[in-house]
Amino acid sequence: MGLLALGTPLSWPEAKKAANQVREWGIEQLLTIWRKAKSKERDALLWGDEIEYLVVAVDEEQKKVRLSLCQAEVLNELARDTELAKEDTVVPDLQEDAVQSGTLPTFHPEFGRFMLEATPGKPWGIGFKDLLDVESDMKTRRVIAKAHMDPDQYPITLTTFPRLGTLDDYTSPYYPPSGPMLRSQFVPDEIANPHIRFPTLAANIRARRGRKVEINVPVFHDKNTPTPFSDPTVNYDLHNWPEDDDVRKGAVKPDCVYMDAMAFGMGSCCLQITFQAKNIREGRMLYDQLSPLGPILLALTAATPIYKGFLVDTDVRWNQISRAVDDRTPEELGEAPLEHDRWRIPKSRYASNSTYIAEDPRLRPEYMDPQLIVDGALKQKLLDAGMDELLATHFAHLFIRDPIVIFSEDLKQLDPEGSNHFENIQSTNWQHMRFKPPPPDADIGWRVEFRSMEIQITDFENAAFSIFIVLVTRAILSFDLNFYVPIPRTTENMETAHIRDAVTRQKFWFRKDPFPRRSPRQSPVLNGIGESDGTLDQNQGLDTTRTSSNCPQTPLPSYGPVEDEYTLMSIDEIINGSHATTSTGDGQSEGFPGLIPLVESYLDSVNIDVATRCDLERYLDLIRKRANGTLWTGAKWLREFVRSHPDYKFDSVVSERIVYDMFNAVEEVGKTEGKDGATGWEMFSAIERKRGLDD
Ligand code: ADP
Ligand code: MG
Ligand code: MG
Ligand code: MG
Ligand code: MG
Ligand code: MG
Repeated sequence: MGLLALGTPLSWPEAKKAANQVREWGIEQLLTIWRKAKSKERDALLWGDEIEYLVVAVDEEQKKVRLSLCQAEVLNELARDTELAKEDTVVPDLQEDAVQSGTLPTFHPEFGRFMLEATPGKPWGIGFKDLLDVESDMKTRRVIAKAHMDPDQYPITLTTFPRLGTLDDYTSPYYPPSGPMLRSQFVPDEIANPHIRFPTLAANIRARRGRKVEINVPVFHDKNTPTPFSDPTVNYDLHNWPEDDDVRKGAVKPDCVYMDAMAFGMGSCCLQITFQAKNIREGRMLYDQLSPLGPILLALTAATPIYKGFLVDTDVRWNQISRAVDDRTPEELGEAPLEHDRWRIPKSRYASNSTYIAEDPRLRPEYMDPQLIVDGALKQKLLDAGMDELLATHFAHLFIRDPIVIFSEDLKQLDPEGSNHFENIQSTNWQHMRFKPPPPDADIGWRVEFRSMEIQITDFENAAFSIFIVLVTRAILSFDLNFYVPIPRTTENMETAHIRDAVTRQKFWFRKDPFPRRSPRQSPVLNGIGESDGTLDQNQGLDTTRTSSNCPQTPLPSYGPVEDEYTLMSIDEIINGSHATTSTGDGQSEGFPGLIPLVESYLDSVNIDVATRCDLERYLDLIRKRANGTLWTGAKWLREFVRSHPDYKFDSVVSERIVYDMFNAVEEVGKTEGKDGATGWEMFSAIERKRGLDD
């Protein structure tokens, strides 16, 4: 998350009054950017990952792990060392060479004052070798981060801190709740990054809603969990803030763990991947084709079974973040008749994405979201300026939202060459795909960000999922794959991904036939594409410039009903392929080929050396085995870790001691994975169960 410039932030009613101005100016800036960059061509195929960490402080004496609110100190130390290294001073923790060449990882602030984000020093390039450097780079980031912390502080990659918001002293240093910005009864204001942008974001979301954010996650009902469960940590007798009334007005739902602040969502860690496309057309295509994969990868990376000291009955973070920043008013939510607001809005500003944008004849109108809300006037402005219908719709949808944080300094004069007002709206639309236009002041191309994945406990896993998604994009471009399903099916899949053990127990809507067009004679499918033009690529690159997606589009044969194009599939079928025979209108077709076999076909088509291919296999194997259930998700492992802990009373409570032991186990796995080719996950699944577990 990049920081916008410092200034004087407007509190809510003031910000609301300036919303139209910010939107108007944001659209002006967007148009300038778009005009300048729309015919940008031949940008390099670059990509980059983002890893987010929690920092914990370990108290060996009390056998307790706390969230360490040390972000600023650690970032300062890191910045100091980087500066020193540039000055050619001997710096033990940082390699001068790396600083000079820009390959030293960079660290960024995040919402939580206990969080860090790290990215590679510069984006990864086209070569396969870069893919093989990702894991060690991620490991280096961890080592560097740790080297700039106190001895008792550790960066860890759990999605959420299991005891955030409990009644004990779970932060270091300790601050009692509650404060004027968040008004939470569970977390202090000091939990948020003190940069004024973050508390203002939280406070203005709350003010716009007219009450605190409301996050209810169903508790995991274990043998001894009371039924019905009512969250024992909720205090119904507070009278410090008007918002303390929320719980007396029914904010707490039965059988749920209740949370009331942005920190419970935006304090989560995820794994994001950004791709630069060679031009806007390819960027729009990748945006669309990766979109249906969002929920699949969310389920595959599931790692969030605990909130506020309780096991919960869901496996992923997504909806909690969505609710933690849901600024919709009762009118927009449909709870009150529309009087002051402009429309009912079906989704939070953090949600699965609602548009397709590719100029692709395969994009049928039936795929679009029938519930899509757009700002008609702003859309017209974009159309009048020459933007096409699809892209104008996309941005006019993002621009239905109010800007939340506005600095008064920015309202004085429009910088038409800038991007601050555009980014204000764009960067607070947290959808699972983000289409990133080139920044006005840098030679960067059109980028697409894949945002649904949960952070994984080990760097082996984080590297594996990054590499997998990169290779999927190469397969998409190389074979001109088609994953279109109607957007509401992706919205539904996002919900499905939350269900406990969704990865092995649920089915997801997915397109049956991913191939562009096929004459009945062309089969079997994988041979067909595997043999394709494997001429180029002597340079061992992920180049796809020769592929059919560059060919002029030709008209397609007539369509059948949209409903026949997709079906419910298990994640195993989606990832590893299904062998069922189904029949379609144009003759018989095979089952779904599977994303891994598609990636394998792509790798077959580009001559890479055996060693590189074997190295890549280690990563693909993790995805394969996660999908077929051989290896557990982080969510399952953490849940079973809790349930097999001697301290656990089968009442859903995740105690301080369990979290302490969990931290040690997580550290241990991090050290073990990779040794002799073992993944931490093989170790995970072999964990001794100390007590009989029922399901
Ligand atoms: P944000 O937080 O807005 O998503 P970041 O600035 O943290 O974006 O960068 C996200 C990732 O994009 C990083 O891994 C970075 O290395 C990578 N990146 C930077 N420039 C490019 C580019 N031109 N093409 C592709 N990826 C890039
Ligand atoms: Mg981030
Ligand atoms: Mg970032
Ligand atoms: Mg940023
Ligand atoms: Mg220190
Ligand atoms: Mg990002």
